[in-house]
Amino acid sequence: MPNETSSATIIDGKARSEAVMNELAPRAKSLIERGVNPHLTVILVGDDPASRVYVKSKVKACQALGVRSTVATLPADTPESALLDKIDQLNNDDSVHAILVQLPLPEGFDERRIVQRVAPGKDVDVFHPLNAGKLLLGAPGFEPCTPKGIMALLDGIGYDPAGKNAVVVGRSNIVGKPITLMLLRRNATVTICHSRTPDLGAATRQADLLIAAVGKAGLITGDMIKPGAVVIDVGVNRVEGSKKLRGDVDFDSAVKVAGAITPVPGGVGPMTIAMLMLNTLEAAESC
Ligand code: NDP
Repeated sequence: MPNETSSATIIDGKARSEAVMNELAPRAKSLIERGVNPHLTVILVGDDPASRVYVKSKVKACQALGVRSTVATLPADTPESALLDKIDQLNNDDSVHAILVQLPLPEGFDERRIVQRVAPGKDVDVFHPLNAGKLLLGAPGFEPCTPKGIMALLDGIGYDPAGKNAVVVGRSNIVGKPITLMLLRRNATVTICHSRTPDLGAATRQADLLIAAVGKAGLITGDMIKPGAVVIDVGVNRVEGSKKLRGDVDFDSAVKVAGAITPVPGGVGPMTIAMLMLNTLEAAESC
């Protein structure tokens, strides 16, 4: 059993994502050779600095694979109807295979209405009800990038969720709910916790596999983790007054208890981008 001096295996998301990108390179190449030039368009509304950084990394990943990327930048005061028109235009543009609306949108936009406007075949974030429904039913289709990245990380360390107690903290449509479905499909017993869970620690201490997707720096501390558990930290929280990022898991205390843990940065983040590339190629392959 781990003690104060033991330390978890650090799950290297950067290295794993590089391996995925290497696997994707020949797929991108063969599409291009067939005359299909995979093309991701990211719609960025407003001037959120964090969003700009995320978009930049997505563009960089496209460049690494020779995949075409376009960033459609719109001012924060764009009328919602104009944003919907832009999405319609991209939906109808045969040269665009994948569309992603960078979130969060500025105040005032009906986020759900907008993300659901993306045509199902180009919806690499899996927000369209048709794609979300397929995920629920276990039918073939896109899987959302962050949960897909988490599953790839688990597969990368040879971790089989079957029969394990998985606890997911957070129930968002982009992370918490889809990772729950995907773990269920892989035969884990899954508990979902959220802001109304009365005793979070009591739940998380049962977890063989703990996924934290909350958006609260250091919420999960070492004493809330079962010794030897695999801990996946999805959270990306900016430390006030610095450029540093922190996860939802208090790394220093967690690393002494967990069996394996993802760091922030360098864990789930790079995998999300690699999976966006995979979804973009899948969209282009099926066009
Ligand atoms: P949301 O804000 O959509 O969801 C947060 C969830 O956490 C909600 O379900 C909320 O519960 C729950 N929650 C809030 N406070 C608590 C608490 N004290 N105890 C238990 N649960 C709580 O966030 P996202 O899912 O979009 O993102 C979560 C984090 O992951 C963020 O830091 C985000 O930046 C990061 N992220 C990282 C990505 C990556 O690639 N690395 C990709 C996507 C997200 P309730 O539903 O009751 O409000």
